[in-house]
Amino acid sequence: MSEETPICSAKGCRSEAVWVLAWNNPKIHTPERRKTWLACEEHREHLSQFLGVRGFLKDVVLLSEWESSEAS
Ligand SMILES: [Zn+2]
Repeated sequence: MSEETPICSAKGCRSEAVWVLAWNNPKIHTPERRKTWLACEEHREHLSQFLGVRGFLKDVVLLSEWESSEAS
């Protein structure tokens, strides 16, 4: 598995990820903790909905923006 090319987290998808979905499960994570899923353009909505209906979704940002905010 290459570190260079982030791949979409959707099951069975091998597309390059464009989006980062930041989420938190309040039952198992402290409030400031962020788990992340990666999503391609096609699966962003599907994965967002999956997390959204559970009340877990915190943020959806472009991968490029996420990486630059992580670095700073
Ligand atoms: Zn995908």
